[in-house]
Amino acid sequence: MKPLPSDEELDTKAKSTAETAYGKLEFGGKRALLMDVAGGFYSLKKTLRSDIGFFEKDFMTRAGQEGARSYLLEFHKSLKGRTPKEAIEEMLKQYSMRGYGDFRLAKLDDTIMIADIRSSNTAEAWAFQTNRDMQREPICSYSAGMLSAVCSLAFSDTHGAEIEFGAVEIECAAEGD
Ligand SMILES: [Zn+2]
Repeated sequence: MKPLPSDEELDTKAKSTAETAYGKLEFGGKRALLMDVAGGFYSLKKTLRSDIGFFEKDFMTRAGQEGARSYLLEFHKSLKGRTPKEAIEEMLKQYSMRGYGDFRLAKLDDTIMIADIRSSNTAEAWAFQTNRDMQREPICSYSAGMLSAVCSLAFSDTHGAEIEFGAVEIECAAEGD
């Protein structure tokens, strides 16, 4: 089995402006930007929710999905020959390293293709918690989109094509009781 790419090959250390052009930051070989989660990211979600309401969920899910597909496309190639379980775990690590939350694959049923993925500290839920803005329903729509892209990529080798996955958030740390 092909070994996983090393940290150097993956290039997962954030490169500061000193190493790149001023005003540019790189992570995983891609230009990245740092966003303050409780401030900038929370404001982005709140603004979308107040202006477009329910559609925020749909928009953020699609953004999370497309973003993950584009970010993971190259990385996924290095996972050739891995089982869907291994592939999901490696791709989740990428997102955890980027600060989106501690994502863990709790259960996977390969035959019916259902994955139970958990995170106790998604950046999205944490932003609402930190701003003491508890919600009535799950709000991690960006993460949900990202997770559906991860599963879609993970099963694409086994099935010879990319299957569209959906993600349903059952419980959210941003929900008040
Ligand atoms: Zn959540």
